[in-house]
Amino acid sequence: MTYKETIADALKRGVAIGHFNISNIEGFWAVINASKKLDVPVIIGVSEGERDWMGVKEIKALVDMQKAQGVKVFLNADHTYSFERVKEVVDAGYDSVIIDCAKLPYEENVKVTKQCVDYAKSVNPEILIEAEFGFIGSSSKVWDKIPDGAAQDDSQLTSAEDAVRFVEATGIDLFAPAVGNIHGMARSGPNPHIHIDRVKAISDATKVPLVLHGGSGIPDEDFVAAAKNGMAIIHISTELRRAMGEALRKTLEANPDEVAPYKYMKEAKEAMQAVVEERLKLFNGLA
Ligand SMILES: [Zn+2]
Repeated sequence: MTYKETIADALKRGVAIGHFNISNIEGFWAVINASKKLDVPVIIGVSEGERDWMGVKEIKALVDMQKAQGVKVFLNADHTYSFERVKEVVDAGYDSVIIDCAKLPYEENVKVTKQCVDYAKSVNPEILIEAEFGFIGSSSKVWDKIPDGAAQDDSQLTSAEDAVRFVEATGIDLFAPAVGNIHGMARSGPNPHIHIDRVKAISDATKVPLVLHGGSGIPDEDFVAAAKNGMAIIHISTELRRAMGEALRKTLEANPDEVAPYKYMKEAKEAMQAVVEERLKLFNGLA
């Protein structure tokens, strides 16, 4: 199945495709191994910082080698903040890209997003372009209080009318609304919950697949309900970052003399894979 067909299939079945951010080869294998083990499609996401760290084209080559072996993996350029950086990944052959102009004034946001859509489709008609409308915080980290300006109340969430206006004006393929989700996750205590009625209203009105950002820490039942109501893709990043960091710290403390990275990174990789597997089971109704 192509990327588009995979997304359409998820929507039809009321399940969601897991999108996992990686920063290193351990993260790459954690996602690939989990996908193979459970035989479900996955999306590897790399932000501007993550792909600068790993190499824009190098990640593409790694993903292509897995595709050639039949692994159902797609590559997404996560939050991309300028036309130039969108052009870079379109030219490199990524499967999708998120143009994020959420902080720009509305008219400017529409203009830059449309410019990215037009360029991308002229190079690769199969590429999918995603954009976000409504502010959901900007950093995948562990926070003590909800980031300033992140939408939480009904009146701050993306409305179905605004969503339709934005999708029609820009021609995007995938839409990421603010429906209570926030990037990153709370250190302790409850995370924000998803306004399912708003998800359904936006999905019905825009008729494009929706993407849930800031999935880390959201209650399981919200994910399941969101997937049944139009969220075709769910992003998990912070949970992986935390799992890797915690496992690595523990291993190094317990084995201060170990110098072989492939040995002391083993538990870190396995901890990430455990998170990916758990999330994929939930999103795909395998739990
Ligand atoms: Zn995001």
